[in-house]
Amino acid sequence: MAHTLPDLGYSFDALEPHIDATTMGIHHDKHHQAYVDKLNAAIEGKADLEAKSICELVKDLASVPDEIRGAVRNNGGGHVNHSHFWKVIAPGGASAPSGDLAAAIDAAFGSFDAFKEAFANAGMTRFGSGWAWLCKMSDGTVAVCSTANQDNPVMGPDFGGCGSTPLLGLDVWEHAYYLNYQNKRPAYIAAFWNVVNWDVVAENFASA
Ligand code: MN
Repeated sequence: MAHTLPDLGYSFDALEPHIDATTMGIHHDKHHQAYVDKLNAAIEGKADLEAKSICELVKDLASVPDEIRGAVRNNGGGHVNHSHFWKVIAPGGASAPSGDLAAAIDAAFGSFDAFKEAFANAGMTRFGSGWAWLCKMSDGTVAVCSTANQDNPVMGPDFGGCGSTPLLGLDVWEHAYYLNYQNKRPAYIAAFWNVVNWDVVAENFASA
């Protein structure tokens, strides 16, 4: 079964002024669609790969044949990363973590502000294109990491990830912010905190 572009679930202008409607429209309809199309093209006719969910596919890149592994890594990663991203920036929901998630963040970083600083630093120091992540580790603690390109933490160390489960991801590719913020990645990251849906992040933490 071919992979499909998920509905955004809200309007392109729902995150203004923090993320502008034009950026959202191009990002979802053009960039994410392209990852989906190229992923489908890469695995077309390979029944064992076509039968896997996107999560199963990117978690087990070692089982993907050499000649399409790069395409599946980049475009499968792009598909799973953006599908995650639209949900964690969905409008509504809590504007700060609470409960078990807040406790885990405090335990790992000392405070919510210290976490935000560590996460923002991961995004700002990612050279070129990539993502910053808050992840739930196998021992139940949380940690910040970053990945290059469209790699996802679940891909594991051999593929640029840390092998853990992403709770909150931030796209720091220029296509995510250049129209509104130009070269000012720090301003985009600062604005991102206004749109994080902490209810969704808490659901990710509970189910990880
Ligand atoms: Mn993107």
